[in-house]
Amino acid sequence: MNLKDIIRNVPDFPKKGIQFKDITTLIQDREAFRESIDWMISLYKDKNIGKVVAVESRGFIFGAPLAIAIGAGLALVRKKGKLPSETLSVKYQLEYGEDELEMHRDTIKKGEKVIIVDDLLATGGTTLAAVQLIEKVPAVISGICFLIELEGLRGRDRLSGYRVESLVKYEGD
Ligand code: AMP
Repeated sequence: MNLKDIIRNVPDFPKKGIQFKDITTLIQDREAFRESIDWMISLYKDKNIGKVVAVESRGFIFGAPLAIAIGAGLALVRKKGKLPSETLSVKYQLEYGEDELEMHRDTIKKGEKVIIVDDLLATGGTTLAAVQLIEKVPAVISGICFLIELEGLRGRDRLSGYRVESLVKYEGD
């Protein structure tokens, strides 16, 4: 199955010039969704991963079934102000301005083996913020996976030093 045929490209969303990769058409297709999760499972099964760290909000969609399948817990990284208990937080740069990600202070144990999952790697800024949150614990990042990678934005370069995997690669942005 060619997953690129199933991921919908929406030009100029949410603003002009962005080619938005819409994964709703993938997750509504039971075979494509399963193939995507199976690929993630194949990367991390039997690797003794303690937590899957999923990044709000589309990372949750892939992180939850992955965590169950590999026998890990699920740790949530969310936008500022969403998590109710004591958090660690990291500010990061957006194209315009800045944003903040948070994770509960007690969601990952010191030295625990974790992986990070999100739907798409663009510039890598969001993932780098998640990496910094985990490094505050500190825990061991065994891998980072994305369903989609926009190779032209070179997010992978910002994550050097980590094992980065992606299933569907687009050459441009
Ligand atoms: P970045 O921090 O630049 O790597 O952006 C990553 C986040 O923004 C991911 O969580 C994606 O969900 C979202 N994102 C960025 N660019 C796109 C795009 N072209 N299509 C869909 N989602 C995108």
